[in-house]
Amino acid sequence: MTSKVKYSYACEKYKKQTQFLDFYYEHFGNFWVNHQMNGTFSKWHLYGTMDYIMHYDSKKYLPNNRLIFPIELVFDIDVPNYKENHLLRDQISDNFIKENMNHSIWRNGSDYGNHIHSFFPELNNYPTFHRQLLKQLLIQHYAGKENIKKFKIDMFVTYPKRLISLERSKHRNGGDRIKYLVRNFNFNKENKIPKQVIKKFEGKITTYDMDSIFIDLSVSDKPCIKFFETEEFSHIEDYRRRALFILASEYVRKGIPKNEVVHKLIKWRDYILNGYKGISDSFIKHTVLKANGRVTCKMRSQVLQEIGMESVVRKCPTCSKFLM
Ligand SMILES: [Zn+2]
Repeated sequence: MTSKVKYSYACEKYKKQTQFLDFYYEHFGNFWVNHQMNGTFSKWHLYGTMDYIMHYDSKKYLPNNRLIFPIELVFDIDVPNYKENHLLRDQISDNFIKENMNHSIWRNGSDYGNHIHSFFPELNNYPTFHRQLLKQLLIQHYAGKENIKKFKIDMFVTYPKRLISLERSKHRNGGDRIKYLVRNFNFNKENKIPKQVIKKFEGKITTYDMDSIFIDLSVSDKPCIKFFETEEFSHIEDYRRRALFILASEYVRKGIPKNEVVHKLIKWRDYILNGYKGISDSFIKHTVLKANGRVTCKMRSQVLQEIGMESVVRKCPTCSKFLM
């Protein structure tokens, strides 16, 4: 987002979710959205494409979740104590104000939830992996390391392809509550990543001291496995249970103890599939128990072709033998 983008202006001016959809489309082009209500999720669609129009045309609803943009920093404050929640929110906001950084505070329509949104155009200059680390360091910087632990601040908002509730849209738990603006701070200049943050980032990049922040899900070099492990797959909802079986099978084949496999796959569901409700903890345990490590590239190739991912099939030498 360049200086042309006036998020602060949009915050104050736009009172409808459609205005925000168009605003983001104008500045970022197509972006992922979905609709989530009372525990049901729609597929992810790219706003502005035919696929999106075909889905939403016949529906009585609009998307209420949208992508967290690459240059966007989000604080999802979900402390279950109302007073503590607001204190933390205001503390983070004060830290932004001290540095004259633009940000806005939103209530997301739940009983407690507060969101802080802020844009750092410089994040565009970094590759995905570095950007993720920078966002985590920015959250540390403004929220305080101790608060991240104490209040379990969501760090997964820093992952690529994460959704957050759309401004001025209805809350996912139903009712008439919408995400509304509490306060907006506009210092009439673009946010710059603070020097201390850049310094920390450079230190971590050169020493590879990243264990404390990152979780590593991948255990395989096979492109056909990697695809199912990552957020590339996350919006293909119909095949999630098969993907679970494919991954369980591969991890068991690699000799990872079954209890560790269960743990890994719970993380996968929570972080990659956004806490998808169609796969319970007990379903994961059951699947891992059944997994015998005999799922091969032949089956993966078939599934990949069914979901239209021939490009992934071609990347794996064994899978590509089964191209139809
Ligand atoms: Zn393969």
